[in-house]
Amino acid sequence: MAKYDLDLFVIGGGSGGVRAARLSAGLGKRVAIAEEYRFGGTCVIRGCVPKKLFVYASQFPEHFEDAAGYGWTVSEASFDWKTLIANKDREIARLEGVYRKGLEDAGAQIIEDRAVLLDRHTIQAGSRTYTADKILIATGGRPNPHAALPGHEHCIFSNEVFDLPELPKSIVIAGGGYIAVEFANIFHGLGVETCLVYRGKEILGRFDMDMRRGLHEAMEAKGIRIHCQEHFTEIEKRSDGRLDAHLVSGKVLTADQVLLALGRIPNTEKLGLEATGVETGKTGEIVVDDYSQTSVDNIWAIGDVTNRVQLTPVAIHEAMCFVETAMKSNPVKVDHEAIATAVFSQPEIGTVGLSEDDAAKKFDEIEIYRARFRPMRHTLSGRQERMTMKLVVDAATRRVLGAHVLGPDAGEMAQLLGIPIKAGLTKDDFDRTMAVHPTAAEELVTMYKPTYRVKDGERID
Ligand code: NDP
Repeated sequence: MAKYDLDLFVIGGGSGGVRAARLSAGLGKRVAIAEEYRFGGTCVIRGCVPKKLFVYASQFPEHFEDAAGYGWTVSEASFDWKTLIANKDREIARLEGVYRKGLEDAGAQIIEDRAVLLDRHTIQAGSRTYTADKILIATGGRPNPHAALPGHEHCIFSNEVFDLPELPKSIVIAGGGYIAVEFANIFHGLGVETCLVYRGKEILGRFDMDMRRGLHEAMEAKGIRIHCQEHFTEIEKRSDGRLDAHLVSGKVLTADQVLLALGRIPNTEKLGLEATGVETGKTGEIVVDDYSQTSVDNIWAIGDVTNRVQLTPVAIHEAMCFVETAMKSNPVKVDHEAIATAVFSQPEIGTVGLSEDDAAKKFDEIEIYRARFRPMRHTLSGRQERMTMKLVVDAATRRVLGAHVLGPDAGEMAQLLGIPIKAGLTKDDFDRTMAVHPTAAEELVTMYKPTYRVKDGERID
């Protein structure tokens, strides 16, 4: 008789949890996975996937404008928010089905209920109790509600933004990170009067300076208003149903909706963690080691609930390392180095490795290769938007430390740039690579001379 009902109980059916459950069940392990809402988690249901669909929707007005230079006459276009929402919902339901089927086909038991830990081997889900040798917590995170902000209850968050009954005429968005910036561009593209309010000096503070400044300029040139070094003191509901966002400077911004995109917090409340002794950190995140093992040796945690790097592919990578380590007895450390990432702004940012500022702090001398140009597509369209490519190179070893792209398809390029940066290739390897012509990406292998160098933190031209 087995000591426990299950080899593995996974709590949370998002990208990380589903991957771990599916792979473990595929190994012949007895696996159950509990999800209280919908399989797919943040990414599929109310994150990356619907966001990207919204990005596509919001790009059409610029495509229509650009078409004129190529000889097209596009009759007056109109947009129907409800059609977009309905089609998005259909696609998400399809993906949810794919996730579910993958679990079923692998032989995992699906539990559609909230799971709570009773002790280090026992889980309550609905009216049933299960025992498991190992437990994996992959409960993700949720938008920081900013409950201390007076009037926060009038605001929407990234969860609600995907299902608004009406497209607002105007919106104020708080934050300067991925979500705030992406949604500022989405709403602007859909014709909404959009204003971004950010507490710091420059949006996307952790990105390379040329990326964040270039994007800031491009967004303002489109007509998105950006207020930096500002924050809300209160959100007030007016008698006409609109909202007044009061800023610390005394300004008042009036809009139909206010979106707070001020980071996300881990879902660790009411999980029964205290009954197990699993340690949590300052923001409520589950503390794990390099292998995603918690302070209780049969309990593991992956993804946003651990608040390491809040990205879907990272949660999936952590899931795969977990399966190797815990289910196949082949310890594999999670590798968080040089993660390629994209901001689906308009223009897009694609980036991997070190920014110029970070590289200058770590290396004695670096070389910056930078090209700023108007993409060929915009020659006939007449659009003035420019594209930026940048490589950050260690002068001593010639290793490419970081690659940054601002412009069309930057996210796609970041994925491929992730390979040479991860492999530790040098600028000479880039130079030896033949260009694909005519593309924008060819700039990445044809920037032969450094634009400038940075030595001991000082720029030398
Ligand atoms: P981010 O961490 O990217 O940004 C949070 C923003 O909120 C920052 O600009 C931060 O300012 C600001 N902020 C935090 N607290 C306050 C406060 N008290 N008052 C005012 N401003 C505040 O979080 P997001 O919510 O945008 O996104 C959450 C996560 O989801 C991201 O970390 C990202 O990993 C992931 N994501 C990834 C996407 C992608 O891959 N394309 C898309 C969307 C989300 P400051 O910079 O000063 O700290």
